[in-house]
Amino acid sequence: MKDLVSLCTRKGFIFQSSGIYGGINGCWDFGPLGVELKRNLKDDWWYNFVQQRSDIVGLDASIIMHPKVWEASGHVEQFHDIVVDCKECKHRFREDHLEAKVCPDCGGELTEPKAFNSMLQTRLGVSDESAVNTYLRPETCQAIFVDFKEVYSSSRMKVPFGIAQIGKAFRNEVNPRNFIFRSREFEQMEIEFFCKAENEEAVFEQWKADIWKWYLDIGLTESKMRWYAHPKESLSHYSSRTEDVEYEFPFGWGELQGLANRGTFDLTAHTKASGKDLSFFDQQANERFTPSVIEPSAGADRATLAVLCNAYHEEEVEGDKRIVMKFDPKLAPIKAAVLPLVKKDGIAEMAQDFEKTLRKKFNTFYDQAGAIGRRYRRMDEVGTPFCICVDYDSKEDNTVTVRDRDSMEQARMPMAEVAAYIQTRCSNERD
Ligand code: ATP
Repeated sequence: MKDLVSLCTRKGFIFQSSGIYGGINGCWDFGPLGVELKRNLKDDWWYNFVQQRSDIVGLDASIIMHPKVWEASGHVEQFHDIVVDCKECKHRFREDHLEAKVCPDCGGELTEPKAFNSMLQTRLGVSDESAVNTYLRPETCQAIFVDFKEVYSSSRMKVPFGIAQIGKAFRNEVNPRNFIFRSREFEQMEIEFFCKAENEEAVFEQWKADIWKWYLDIGLTESKMRWYAHPKESLSHYSSRTEDVEYEFPFGWGELQGLANRGTFDLTAHTKASGKDLSFFDQQANERFTPSVIEPSAGADRATLAVLCNAYHEEEVEGDKRIVMKFDPKLAPIKAAVLPLVKKDGIAEMAQDFEKTLRKKFNTFYDQAGAIGRRYRRMDEVGTPFCICVDYDSKEDNTVTVRDRDSMEQARMPMAEVAAYIQTRCSNERD
């Protein structure tokens, strides 16, 4: 993890938030390469689960919602972590994260466990008297339930169908840790899939297959993934069955995403609390019912971290250490680097012009500083799948070499064919 965190900072993937003020615990900034990586990941998720499916539509709801939402959803009552405090050093811990009954930091005695609500409160309103307390959403899905009727009636969707959303969520985590794995501000990629009660199990199983396939599609190693089924006694208040996809991070197995059967809990709760009917009327069958919900709920930051961990490789090449990020090309922040072999004799100008034409199609990078071998290594370190070298022959016959990041092999290719070649290799349609 230390090597990966250092690479992420050095190369501009992820920084500590507010670093010049000493940082703020549990908050992170995605730098120039990190923002591309995470955006590619989210776009790929959206492409696969929303745009490619006629039975799922999208939503982008507000982060701050009516405070009653969080009462109805059970979060005000139930969204608690059980915490203990150290009587000596005063550090606080989640009880379920402790391995022993003493403080892991100083060995001191711990207090009795107590409940701590992990929603972040905020105040909305322009004067102290009129402002109301509400919360930054701790999960994106509640807006999907609250907007259920508006979405299905405006888009004419019929059960079974799903609503998907990607957005920020906030939790006042007791111990943010393991880099971006457990943060206080993070992004979720959630789907609420509405179905008939009798189809709950079949829909759940189908989602298990679809989710698993997506993680393989973004390049995670299958042997580093597993399912974890929650025992009945540890299920959340809304769930009758939950299974998590876990990934083997360098710090151990950790949850990438949950898949929960929420039944009719949420729609029923919001119907009761708001007085607005959130049932569905099936015109064909002439029947009204409250659909059940199967929820695949993923974290964009955790998936990004898994992709980073999975991509990180140290290799020995001709006696030198090579650090290479073997991202799936469709996720790579930079798709191609254009490198002139030398700066003189019009080669650099030719390379710059070529880079400009490629930039219109995908994210590129131009680099003429230093020996060509060093430039290749720099691109390996940030996971650029293709390096294009413009040399003297290019001037003669309009060909370039295209170097493959993983095999390090170079192929000569007409310049006119390069863009299409790279686009095909980086496309999320290629599977
Ligand atoms: P954990 O048990 O690790 O606290 P959770 O079971 O509470 O997670 P869910 O409520 O199921 O998490 O949230 C769905 C997804 O949102 C998680 O699988 C994870 O990918 C992401 N997520 C939840 N909490 C965090 C966090 N603090 N930081 C980053 N991602 C998170």
